[in-house]
Amino acid sequence: MRPVMRVGLGYDIHRLADGRPLVLGGIAIPHPKGLSGHSDADVVLHAVIDALLGAAGAGDIGQHFPDTDPAYRQISSLELLRRVRAIIEQRGCAIANIDTTILAEEPNLSAYKPAMAKQIETALGLPGGSVNVKAHTFEGVGLIGRGEAMAAYAVVLVQEVGR
Ligand code: MG
Repeated sequence: MRPVMRVGLGYDIHRLADGRPLVLGGIAIPHPKGLSGHSDADVVLHAVIDALLGAAGAGDIGQHFPDTDPAYRQISSLELLRRVRAIIEQRGCAIANIDTTILAEEPNLSAYKPAMAKQIETALGLPGGSVNVKAHTFEGVGLIGRGEAMAAYAVVLVQEVGR
């Protein structure tokens, strides 16, 4: 029988604020500002989570981890990602690959991309090479270009393997 493949798309944006650690793809990155939000505001993992939930037909991040719930205050998004792994496995989905693009004016993220990919692979129990991380600036334009926010996109392909 032909394998059933499902695709998912994720997107997230958070504002930058003083006095917050910058965490992207589960990696702490030295920077004068960090992303503000209820959890650690890791836009990369939030985009990956929404892509995974989308591929599995399991709704979105806000449904599973509402930002009105004090249980998720300051929580590491790696923990949320691990919980999403369980959700999609329960739905009989195996991840084929994940691709993500970060939009951030600064700092330069080149040196951190392999570590981010590794963090995501580890949290999801995936072999090396399953996750690809890319980063772009916004050419000085708009909210992201002025360094007021960062955003991320993710796409994921999963295969239905049955439960
Ligand atoms: Mg978010």
